[in-house]
Amino acid sequence: MKRASKWILRITLAILIIMAALIGLWQLSKMRSYQLFGEIVSSVDTHEKVIALTFDDGPTAAYTNEILAILDQYGVKATFFVIGREVEENPEHARSIVEAGHELGNHSWSHPNMSLLSLDRVADEIERTDAAIRAVGYEGELHFRPPFGKKLLTLPWYLRQHNRTTVMWDIEPETYAEIAAEPSRIVQHVLDNARPGSIVLLHLMYESRETSRQALPTIIERLREQGYKLVTVSELLSVSAFAAGGR
Ligand code: ZN
Repeated sequence: MKRASKWILRITLAILIIMAALIGLWQLSKMRSYQLFGEIVSSVDTHEKVIALTFDDGPTAAYTNEILAILDQYGVKATFFVIGREVEENPEHARSIVEAGHELGNHSWSHPNMSLLSLDRVADEIERTDAAIRAVGYEGELHFRPPFGKKLLTLPWYLRQHNRTTVMWDIEPETYAEIAAEPSRIVQHVLDNARPGSIVLLHLMYESRETSRQALPTIIERLREQGYKLVTVSELLSVSAFAAGGR
């Protein structure tokens, strides 16, 4: 009897340890400013009032032109983290983004959760997307943003081997359903959280994000009223490098 209860205790303890480890790995996989290997950025440390607007997914035939028209109207350059498969499906829209002078980033080929992919799959997802982005004429730097922000071991390892920076974000209004429902709340969330060096994430490329598209002009206007300059991710990273070098 006594022996049996001892075993029950041991098994319970082992289960708890395994659960804690799994929860720990899950937490690690979604951290915005830490990964096991290589450089990761969720915002930059600067006193300069610069902010990067970043748009994930697509490009889609339905919304690319509308988004580009808004950015053009305000003379803003943004960073589009595009999906390789969608670049291949909509090359003329990808090319319009390039020709308008925006930055493109790699957001994988098929948008899987990459935290448990093999190194070969990781390489394939990233390299096919690089090739698709280059094929539409983009020549600038190509940063990487993991789908769902998820990464664990193989992805950071690959990115470090290839000297690629993982670009995350520090402002994400659409995470909260009650904020995402109203353009004015999206704007307010961005303003409440904006600070020098912030990276804002919005999804503008799909039908479900009408409120985000409606919020975009006001986000730009209000951030500028507060003295912010809107820059691409590469410009933001160079501000950070300059600031660090000047210290
Ligand atoms: Zn995405």
